[in-house]
Amino acid sequence: MPDKARVAADLRTMFGADAVLTEAEDLVKYESGWRYGKGKSLLVARPGTTADISKLMAYCHAEGIRVMPQGANTGLVGASNPDVSGEMLVLSLERLNKRLEIDPINRTAVVDGGVLLSSLNAALVHHGLMFPIDLGADPTIGGMIATNTGGTRLLKYGDVRHNLQGIEVVLADGTVVEALNQLRKNNTGLDLKQFFVGTSGIFGVITGAVLQVVPLSRQHATALVGCASGETVLALLQALERELADVLTAYEVISANALNPVFAQHRDIRNPYGTGQPPAYTALVELSSTLPGMALDLSEVLEERLGAFLEGDAGEGITDVFLGKPEDFWAIRHHISESLRNEGKVLAFDISVPRSRMAAFTNAAVALLEKDYPFIRACDFGHWGDGGTHLNLVWDESKAPVTTAELVRELQARIYELAVKGFDGSYSAEHGVGPHNQQFYDTYTSDPVRRLSGAIKAHLDPDRILGTTRLD
Ligand SMILES: Cc1cc2nc3c(=O)[nH]c(=O)nc-3n(C[C@H](O)[C@H](O)[C@H](O)COP(=O)(O)OP(=O)(O)OC[C@H]3O[C@@H](n4cnc5c(N)ncnc54)[C@H](O)[C@@H]3O)c2cc1C
Repeated sequence: MPDKARVAADLRTMFGADAVLTEAEDLVKYESGWRYGKGKSLLVARPGTTADISKLMAYCHAEGIRVMPQGANTGLVGASNPDVSGEMLVLSLERLNKRLEIDPINRTAVVDGGVLLSSLNAALVHHGLMFPIDLGADPTIGGMIATNTGGTRLLKYGDVRHNLQGIEVVLADGTVVEALNQLRKNNTGLDLKQFFVGTSGIFGVITGAVLQVVPLSRQHATALVGCASGETVLALLQALERELADVLTAYEVISANALNPVFAQHRDIRNPYGTGQPPAYTALVELSSTLPGMALDLSEVLEERLGAFLEGDAGEGITDVFLGKPEDFWAIRHHISESLRNEGKVLAFDISVPRSRMAAFTNAAVALLEKDYPFIRACDFGHWGDGGTHLNLVWDESKAPVTTAELVRELQARIYELAVKGFDGSYSAEHGVGPHNQQFYDTYTSDPVRRLSGAIKAHLDPDRILGTTRLD
């Protein structure tokens, strides 16, 4: 166990008193994750420059102190929190947030790893630009790279990987790797930054990035479309892409079980279905464009096209069409997770399958639950446009015949097996790998991939001081 008092004193000398937190009440927020992950830290260090992070890592490397890089701590697989040993130092990036340089002509932003997504967008808006990864949390750019965040507009803009042009990383021994590539085209060897995308920070600490940014949309149009089945949801997606792919930015889908708690708990959110029961699925369709309304009226286009679908073959199974304000419809989508938490025990899944198999996978999962776990409600919702679904299971723990821990173990094993083996899917579509799903990485990752990842880890961090996730 490292000598906490000595380490704290050393770090205070190196970085100043306010860069080091040691009191239990100050450490709490860094030790628990948003949804999973709870540990105990040695202390929290909060250096404010890449040079200081380099010094910190060199110090920890020399002392054999294990380090957990942490951004905004909004990750959903428990990978941003220390383990329970009390030996890990949390390296918070929260003060590494000064660099934020925008080049509007290059359409790039150079940012520190600890810059928050909201701060980046607040600066970009003055240039008529935005970073197009959009989600219901406010993570840091470093954390977004380490988890390869997807978000609700992946359908149009891709994930973080697609919008990352360069990176600056501090390796476990303190070496600074500066690859802040400003060029859109630069085919000169290994694309080094990819080692650090979606690998939970275990290959290095991301201290800076060059991001591609996009013009702000001038108009958005949204509709909620009631669908009788998952098959209808997919047919509608296909029809929308065939005719409106250029302006289709989001295609989110919400099951009736996920929708009802939002309306029941939030009287201020208007329920377009009124007192009636929603159909099996509701699709939130968003179009957006940089064209002004006078050049192309997206609301009119959406209304006209959905009307035409309703009358044609694509309309089969469509039960309702509601046009409305984007902020009203997105409020429904963004209140789902929190509303489900008030309904009972929630076990969340972040699954993807090939888009064409989304309906079949969801039907199979629901059938499995109805047969063997009739006391569980499947409250699924998610990014069907990207083949992603958050299959959230909700139940009253007092009605379950076995303990929650047993049930969670069994459900995870069965649902992941169904997704990965039965439908060629992934057990982690967009949240990455961490203690919450480590055992499924171990189960479903092939030996050659694990050996290769292990070799990279052994080269970059031979003493394994970074993070808790294992990719070997
Ligand atoms: C309400 C809510 C909605 C969400 N919606 C979505 C969604 O729609 N799509 C989606 O993809 N995700 C979603 N997420 C999860 C999302 O992945 C995280 O919010 C985010 O990507 C993590 O960034 P962070 O700064 O919070 O990182 P943290 O949570 O602090 O860390 C996450 C991981 O990254 C590592 N890490 C953090 N910073 C660094 C760094 N600078 N260098 C190296 N490693 C680092 C950590 O060690 C950890 O392994 C949601 C989360 C919440 C709470």
